[in-house]
Amino acid sequence: MQCPVCGGKAVGKIGSHHYYCRDCCIEYRIEREGVQVFEIDEEGMLARLDPAQIRL
Ligand SMILES: [Zn+2]
Repeated sequence: MQCPVCGGKAVGKIGSHHYYCRDCCIEYRIEREGVQVFEIDEEGMLARLDPAQIRL
């Protein structure tokens, strides 16, 4: 599974359908509707990224 943001392979699985990219420091989840991407802010909280902001 490649990172949907950078296309890299530095991806670790952290749950079922849930992955973490070490290159972009984002988490993403594979869902039926598509891929949901979360970024981790300074407080360690997950913030959902607007898909329009993701440059594929
Ligand atoms: Zn990435």
